[in-house]
Amino acid sequence: MNTETTVQFVISPSTTPTPHDQITASIANPVFGRVFTDHMATVRWTNTLGWHDAKIEARRPFQIDPACAVLHYAQEIFEGMKAYRGEDGSISLFRPFENARRFRASAARMSMAELPEALFVGAVDALVKVDQDWVPGGDGSLYLRPFMFASESFLGVRSSNEYVFCVIASPVGPYFKAGKSAVTVWVSDQYTRAAPGGTGAAKCGGNYAASLIAQTEAAAKGCDQVVFLDAAEHKWIEELGGMNVFFVMDDGSLRTPPLSGTILPGITRASIIDLARQEGITVSEEPYAFETWQADAISGRVKEAFACGTAAVVTAIGEVRHAAGEFKIGHGGEGPVTQRIRTTLTGIQRGKIADPFGWSHHVA
Ligand SMILES: *Cc1c(COP(=O)(O)O)cnc(C)c1O
Repeated sequence: MNTETTVQFVISPSTTPTPHDQITASIANPVFGRVFTDHMATVRWTNTLGWHDAKIEARRPFQIDPACAVLHYAQEIFEGMKAYRGEDGSISLFRPFENARRFRASAARMSMAELPEALFVGAVDALVKVDQDWVPGGDGSLYLRPFMFASESFLGVRSSNEYVFCVIASPVGPYFKAGKSAVTVWVSDQYTRAAPGGTGAAKCGGNYAASLIAQTEAAAKGCDQVVFLDAAEHKWIEELGGMNVFFVMDDGSLRTPPLSGTILPGITRASIIDLARQEGITVSEEPYAFETWQADAISGRVKEAFACGTAAVVTAIGEVRHAAGEFKIGHGGEGPVTQRIRTTLTGIQRGKIADPFGWSHHVA
């Protein structure tokens, strides 16, 4: 049986790599999540062998049995992270051990095998190195999608005895349409994302499956994203479908809902809190009622609001729509505090400004 430190990645480069001019063309203006690099990383787990068979190989389809457990009971978790190219051409990741730690926590919640953190980061590092030509410069980045699914062929309802961990990579540009300075959000009055005791704090595919109907409703209302309220009282702001949310108050403080177990603990969220506190800005992690948000936006007590996450980084919320009406935040565009936080965070991620917390992880 392999222990965590002895697993080595066997690298079998693709025999049909994408020609260099084609890579240059496809990373110049990528659509989110449609173009993929040449390789993938995989590691397997079985209850008898533990973690084994770590490899980097040409990206290819999985062959799975129709009885494969994930297809029936949705034991699946994932992560989202990015590799950035600095102005000197070097490539780095942002706090990858935080993703590795969260991945373990998600696995524990979903009753799946826990991948050692060093193996998680080792897989991501190895894949980025092999596919480093795919990391765009400028505003782009290489989005990395580590994920794991139950791969045992068995229809009994219990946790699987076999898992496949995999990392794929996709060059990306901005998540929201270029030139859009703020998004419009829909506050779902009918659907909730997570309940106390449920899986809200785990990054599992099932949470997204359950949120898509609300996202469809939001799109029908002309909105970009959904804001979910708590399941128990339908009163407190929790988060967006895939992003955490912050409010900028008129006294300069920041406010964000607390990690109550029903919110995904975002690494972007945690980083913004650390950066703000370091600058002497007060950050309160207190429950915030939707009705109060509306009253505060109208009175001017809330100056700005923004969503944050790896994919969309920091995105201003300009307008809020709900069943009983709509309201604007500030002047409806990106405010100065949101802009400054975005510039600082992306500056650290891309090595343009000092990294006071040592968050950047050098890959190549
Ligand atoms: C991934 C995710 C976030 C953001 O997490 P980051 O680590 O900042 O990328 C927020 N909410 C949900 C539901 C998520 O899945």
